Amino acid sequence: MDNFIDTWIQQTFGNPQDAPSHSQQVSSSHGTPKDHHSTKLLVCNACGHVHFAQTYAQILEQALNFGDYIQNADAHTREQFGFGSGCKWSLQEHLNGSMKCFGCGAPYTHFHAATDEEVEKMPRGITLQPLLDKDTEEN
Ligand SMILES: [Zn+2]
Repeated sequence: MDNFIDTWIQQTFGNPQDAPSHSQQVSSSHGTPKDHHSTKLLVCNACGHVHFAQTYAQILEQALNFGDYIQNADAHTREQFGFGSGCKWSLQEHLNGSMKCFGCGAPYTHFHAATDEEVEKMPRGITLQPLLDKDTEEN
């Protein structure tokens, strides 16, 4: 179970620090072993969209890494991510994006931890977005 969840995250998110300059995908062939046992999935109460939980510190770190990457990327790469000439990357907007449902925009407080049955029902290979875990908000 843990293995395929980790695979999703690697495919989808990767590590922005490792984002290869020759590719527009934010993905990496090697994962993040330190997260291996702590993967937690959150399900939107409104639309059922699944995200993986992160602490605010993790989201902030990845946002900063991504910001670093995208702001130093060439124009073509920025375009690929939707940050072309008219649209500047913003830390606040990036953080906001990890505090609401990617599917329907419900706030991160309207989520519950995925049950075993929900995890089993999830289609393989779907894309997971990070979401602030409300249980870690205080940290
Ligand atoms: Zn939703």
